[in-house]
Amino acid sequence: MSWICPKCERELPKPEQRHYCARVSLDSLFQGRPPELVLVFDKILAEVADWDGVLVGITPNCIVFTRRLTFLVIRPMKKELDVKFYSKVPHPERPVIKSIASGNKFENHIRIALLDDLRPALFNYLRESYQLL
Ligand SMILES: [Zn+2]
Repeated sequence: MSWICPKCERELPKPEQRHYCARVSLDSLFQGRPPELVLVFDKILAEVADWDGVLVGITPNCIVFTRRLTFLVIRPMKKELDVKFYSKVPHPERPVIKSIASGNKFENHIRIALLDDLRPALFNYLRESYQLL
């Protein structure tokens, strides 16, 4: 059962959960970035926002996807999106550029600049991260 903060209008998993409490527009995150990044983000959003119980929060420098806990963080950088997700096993292979142990799971990063970089494998990674929770 989610809750919408009356101050910032963010949807949160629990009432009174600590969060970045300010109105941030998605546009400001993509300002001065290549327009293709918005298209890439929209595609990921369209897929992942449909999964059960997923909430999307916007902070000043990233977009956070939660299912009670965070399973995906997307950070618009100058020329690409940094996509962070979690896994049970390390992913030393491309397109994962970084896979570091964090508690009992691994934190992975993929960078995406083009719509063509959005492969089904990426969504499999994100789905795995979602299912860890
Ligand atoms: Zn708030």
